[in-house]
Amino acid sequence: MKILVINAGSSSLKYQLIDMDGEKLLAKGLCERIGIDGKFTYKPQLDGKEKIDAADVTMPTHAEAIQAVLDALADPKNGVVKSMDEIDAVGHRVVHGGKEFASSCLIDDKCIEAIKRCIPLGPLHNPANLLGIDACRKVMPGKPQVAVFDTAFHMTMPPKAYIYAIPYEYYEEDDVRRYGFHGTSHRYVSGRCIELLGNPEHSKIISCHLGNGSSLAAIVDGKSMDTSMGLGPLAGIPMGTRGGDIDATIVEYLMHRHNYSIDEIMNVLNKQSGVLGLSGVSSDFRDLEEAASAGNDRAQLALDKFHYEVRKEIGAYAAVMGGVDAIVFTAGIGENGAKNRAAICEGLEYLGVKLCPERNAQRADEHLISTDDSPVKVFVIATNEELMIARDTKEIVGK
Ligand code: ADP
Repeated sequence: MKILVINAGSSSLKYQLIDMDGEKLLAKGLCERIGIDGKFTYKPQLDGKEKIDAADVTMPTHAEAIQAVLDALADPKNGVVKSMDEIDAVGHRVVHGGKEFASSCLIDDKCIEAIKRCIPLGPLHNPANLLGIDACRKVMPGKPQVAVFDTAFHMTMPPKAYIYAIPYEYYEEDDVRRYGFHGTSHRYVSGRCIELLGNPEHSKIISCHLGNGSSLAAIVDGKSMDTSMGLGPLAGIPMGTRGGDIDATIVEYLMHRHNYSIDEIMNVLNKQSGVLGLSGVSSDFRDLEEAASAGNDRAQLALDKFHYEVRKEIGAYAAVMGGVDAIVFTAGIGENGAKNRAAICEGLEYLGVKLCPERNAQRADEHLISTDDSPVKVFVIATNEELMIARDTKEIVGK
């Protein structure tokens, strides 16, 4: 079975074609600047096939972008399938599933209506994800499609973890609660972690997805029990440009003082905050490390703040789970930032975390970075959200 995985943004679309016999990646790529001046990349993963990196490709809408993807995949010379018929199903990433979705779902009119009902909760992402779904329905009518939600994995959280201490009516009538994100990533890496632990009957895992957007999850026996993001992805630890948790009073105070509109203050919190806002240097941790080692105090402060808040969240999750068996680092910073991992784990010895500096300095898609006698195992596990989406799609279409 071959599955096309689509992650649609408002003007972009990432894709992967995965052969589920052996879970082999056949091709991947990106359509960018849809509706503007169309950029198209195609990277076949089979020997002898040439990649495409093209500018000014005509794609006024997501439908032309999908068509360009299919044309490349089935191209007689550089394609990886003979025809579109070889693609059995399409899996879509959908960001916000609200209270509607606790698992992935076959896309039909009812499912699309439910995704639309979640738009107020995910106003930036869901409409873009729907563009990708609509485009595929148009270009590949009748092909089964599945929606996989970032929030679904966290629907196992108990009420005390997901409820906010504001009037209960806002939960009942307006769906205000913690939803959490990066669920597909937390599910993938915690699943791999359980396998690496030897499939114990019980496990307590803290998953740290640290990228441009970052979140942590407390996972007991494979189920999410708490996570740092909230109603939206602005909550939790500081990120590249997002501030993470702040005192809500700051919003009122700055709005009054600077005469900001709600859009202006939200722009500050989403785009100008986090390690970028603190450092004034960059949202990229490589730039911050470079600046900090050249003596930039604010870059160092931004790094210190990030490491401190991640460590604090790890402590909180160990407390609520009554211990921890393993900590997993994933995503851009988690997978590549050895210095960041070391700084986060510093001072966690009391919890049973003993990092091995040599192992931590090495690079691999999956590896243990704690010492052999460390009571808590620490792993780096490269995330693979696309594979998870393809697996769900295969399972649902198979039914
Ligand atoms: P996204 O959340 O957009 O998927 P990624 O998971 O790719 O992002 O993470 C991107 C971030 O990873 C970059 O902002 C950068 O700070 C960080 N990163 C990548 N490589 C390294 C590295 N070698 N050391 C530290 N940070 C890194």
